[in-house]
Amino acid sequence: MPERITIIGSGPAGWTAAIYAARANLEPIVYEGAFTEDNRVKGTLPLGQLALTTEVENFPGFPSGDLSAYLDDSIDEKKRKYMAPHMKEGVSGPELMELMRQQATNFGARIETDDIVEVDLSVRPFRLKSLNGNEFESHAIIIATGARANYLGLESENRFKNMGVSACAVCDGAMPRYRGKPLVVIGGGDSAMEEATFLTKYASKVYIVHRRSEFRASKIMAERALANPKIEVKWNSVIDEVLGDETNGVTGVRIRSSVDSEKTEDLEVTGYFAAIGHTPNTDFLNGQLETNDKGYIKWTVSHRTNTSVDGVFAAGDVADDHYKQAITAAGSGCAAALDAEKWLTAQGIE
Ligand code: NDP
Repeated sequence: MPERITIIGSGPAGWTAAIYAARANLEPIVYEGAFTEDNRVKGTLPLGQLALTTEVENFPGFPSGDLSAYLDDSIDEKKRKYMAPHMKEGVSGPELMELMRQQATNFGARIETDDIVEVDLSVRPFRLKSLNGNEFESHAIIIATGARANYLGLESENRFKNMGVSACAVCDGAMPRYRGKPLVVIGGGDSAMEEATFLTKYASKVYIVHRRSEFRASKIMAERALANPKIEVKWNSVIDEVLGDETNGVTGVRIRSSVDSEKTEDLEVTGYFAAIGHTPNTDFLNGQLETNDKGYIKWTVSHRTNTSVDGVFAAGDVADDHYKQAITAAGSGCAAALDAEKWLTAQGIE
């Protein structure tokens, strides 16, 4: 029997779609992703990007304050003990994701901790294949695979991945090599501000290297970073090379002025954190869905989550190069489940 609805992805869009589809008695199956080294390096582990952040200050319903009793009650004890103990600052990204996952499970969503690696959207029902070798069919699909952090693509950057080069301060920042040492963050958006501010907890100093003379980040986050005495901004600068050796990993970066290309400076750092935007996770689709010029899945009907293939819906960051917020992802996950439910009914699939 084909699945009625398969949800691929496990961020706010995927879980919200799962909650709505489960409550509509569609018994959705969620492919939440696999815990592979490849996914870890790419930043595409289960629970998505929120699992790689700290406090989430702007998700409605989770005000600052001690939510620990509520979290203790709602999250499985085994998982809870590995999470931030008794937060005093609202909810953290991993906690929010665990809560959403639990909520979907409570309504009957089934979960596979596995990646979908191949889909055939040219046949009905659609065919899907997972990393663990599951091959199955599904009438409707919701793609909620999100986006992953970009790197600059320098050869030297690649060489030191896992040896001081990272795109996730929250995942890696507490490692011994970063403690009490100077670090560098690349970028001028909210991610760069958040990562730099977070890293000041551990680092002796954090440089932000930005290619322009003003930040793209929201005012509040930029001001917070600029007011931090441990943060120094290198304006109008780009990374020329990540410096280091096989034994020590990253030992520094060579930056070059973006206004005077003759001017370079070496910064001594033990860690390099890229915060230069994101790429949507669409590789497994092999070009079968229309995308925009940045590679994000196109919604083909105004104010709906339909894609270029009838019966395939998209939600969250994989289809959003504009808002990219947890709450907008959750909202479009809800919309995708409602759109898919209506579509299944119209097809006579109960
Ligand atoms: P953004 O696209 O907003 O910013 C990317 C930054 O990287 C820009 O400053 C850009 O420079 C720079 N950049 C991009 N490519 C290169 C390159 N090749 N070389 C050097 N610099 C480069 O991405 P973010 O990840 O920061 O944010 C994405 C979205 O997520 C935003 O909507 C943001 O608001 C949101 N977000 C919200 C947070 C929160 O509210 N807590 C936290 C983190 C993200 P330039 O400015 O010159 O283009």
